[in-house]
Formats: sequence, C-alpha cells, structure tokens
Amino acid sequence: MILATPGPVEIPDFVKQSFLGETIHHRTPEFKAILKGALERWKRLTGLPYGVFLASSGTGGMESAVINGVKKGALTINAGKFGERWGKICSAHGIPFEELKYPWDTPANPDEVVEKVKTGKFDSLFIQISESAGGLRHPVEEIARRVKEVNPEILVVADGITALGVEKIDTSNIDIIIGGSQKAFMLPAGLAMLGVSQFGKERIGKGRGFYFNLAVELKKQEEGTTAFTPAVNHIIALNLVLEKLEKMGLENHYAFTAHRHRALMEAVKELGLAIYPKAPAKSMVAIELENAEKVRKILKEKYQILVAGGQDHLKGRLIRINNMGIVTPDRLVYIVNSLELALVESGHLPSYTGKGVITLSQHLF
Ligand SMILES: *Cc1c(COP(=O)(O)O)cnc(C)c1O
Repeated sequence: MILATPGPVEIPDFVKQSFLGETIHHRTPEFKAILKGALERWKRLTGLPYGVFLASSGTGGMESAVINGVKKGALTINAGKFGERWGKICSAHGIPFEELKYPWDTPANPDEVVEKVKTGKFDSLFIQISESAGGLRHPVEEIARRVKEVNPEILVVADGITALGVEKIDTSNIDIIIGGSQKAFMLPAGLAMLGVSQFGKERIGKGRGFYFNLAVELKKQEEGTTAFTPAVNHIIALNLVLEKLEKMGLENHYAFTAHRHRALMEAVKELGLAIYPKAPAKSMVAIELENAEKVRKILKEKYQILVAGGQDHLKGRLIRINNMGIVTPDRLVYIVNSLELALVESGHLPSYTGKGVITLSQHLF
C-alpha cells in the first residue's frame, strides 16, 4: 500500500533501519551526544534558541504549549479540526480562552486577530501554520509580527506540525513552534518537537503540569538529558533525518517540496478538480469533490493508494494528498495516473486521456 495521507507519511528505509540497531540506554554519553546533536539541528531548522523533544504525539506538544504558556487568557484560531483542538485543550484544563472561527477554506484575517488582541484580554495566541483539516495556510508570520507590534507581551504559539520541514518558516515573532514526528520528518508517530524563543522561555517560567512541564524539560535537555525516559529510537532517527536534510540542503528540500506542490496542483486542476482552500498549504493538496469516498475506495482497493478524506462537514467531500517528506517523482506519477483512472471509474470524468500525468510531468520535469 502506498501511504499518500498528509500524515502519517511513508517512512524511508534508512529511517526504518535505524530502529533495528542495538538498544542505547538513555543515561549514557552515547545517547547524550545524539540528543545534543538532534537538538542543535532542530534549533537550526526552527531558527529558535531552545528546543525540547517530548515522547508524545503532536497533540501532547500542543497541550504542553497551552498549559505552560497561558497565564491569563488564550486567543485561539479555529479554521479546522486542529484549530478547534486548542479550545478543547484549554477547556480540559479550565484555562480561559476565546476562539476566532473561520470556515475551513479561509485563512485567518490579520486585522481581526489584531483587533481581538487590542482588547487586552489575552496573553497568548494559538494558531496553525498549516491547518491540515482543509490543507489551509494561515498568514502566521504576518499575524505574529502585527500582534507583537500591538503587544510584545503576547506569546505566539504556532502549530507547525504540517509546516516545519515543508517550508522555511520565519520564526522571528513566534515564541513556541510545534512539530510532529510522523509528518514531514518521516518517522513513526510518537515524538513531539518544540522550538522555543527567549521570550517563550521566560513566559514558561517555572512551568506547569508534571509530565508536560516545559521548564523542567528545557532545563534537562539543555544539559543533554531528559526528565523521563525519552523516545530514544525516535530521537536517533530524527537526528539521521535532520542530518540528511542538512546534507541535501534545507533550501533545496524546501524548493523541491514547493516545486512538487505546484506540479501536483496543476495536474489536479487539469483533471477538472477544484482546490479546496483559498490559501493552500504546501504540505498537501486538498481537493473538493462530490462522492469523494467512491474515489478514495477505488484508489485504495484497486490501486493500493491510501489518501485522506474529509472530516466533520467535509466528510465525503474532500481528498487530501500528501506532499510532505520525500515523495519521489515516480510515486507521484503513479498517484496522479491512478487518480485520473479512479475519477473515470467513479463517473467523475467521461474518459481517460492521461492529461493528469502529462501536466504533472510538464511541471515536474
Ligand atoms: C497531525 C497534526 C497534529 C497532531 O496530531 P497527533 O495525531 O497528535 O500527532 C496537530 N496539528 C496538525 C496541523 C496536524 O496535522
């Protein structure tokens, strides 16, 4: 089966193999060197001075940012399942919050966010960079910059789980950025990676919570160790992935990801399909169409390709194709060709012409 979902993504062989090595104990100089190496690479990738790894899925990273970051009240941006999650986390902890809601295809409006911040009710802002529910890109850099102009004491938290490793993020006004192992970093699920600014560290102060106390982890990980048993094998594998991306050149990796995204978008449009979000994120291509489940079923059963569908009100109306990690051109050609065939077989297209692959190839090569 080809895993073409926007997370989890396919795990490359060199990553799988790294999980087969001898077990390394986490309280050893060997592991300390690996952890320090991975954290240094992570800080370079995020452009932030501090880094923390947590043994949890991405949501654990979100929860840690909420409980450690908010001292007064949170403003959360909700344009999909993941934006909605900030509010659910606040509610679970009795943390006051207000939500700015947008349709799932619509990016947050910086003016509206700034107006909310001016009320003085909030000390923290929570937003997705790439909202995976609709494949939507929020203008986070602009929002973060303008919010800080109004109030430099606002903690800006960005969920970069489907943005880090996909494109270069300007983190100059971001205080906590969150990544997840199973998205662009091509690992199994189970590791949340955070980048923290100087202001972010100060705001966290003594921290809050027990397992997810970021103050404790920040201190320990600066020393090259962890408070609890870390996800040793994930950190070893992450270090390898970051090493590989640095060797390829992060700029080259981002450029190829963007190039592939353009090619896939053009191919999809050539097939007569509509791109769902008004501002598409580069992590995936989200297509809006009727009877999407029929197409997904054919792709899965006949062509052995798993793509994601839609959730909630978009159930049965969305197809989301991954563009994170390393997707080779041959894979992409097969996926687009199978998509056109599935569209014919599901009755969405009258006949097969191969125009999907032709357009993809013209843009890709
Ligand atoms: C996948 C994802 C998460 C985290 O989900 P987990 O299942 O907890 O790893 C958070 N935000 C976004 C935008 C995501 O795509």
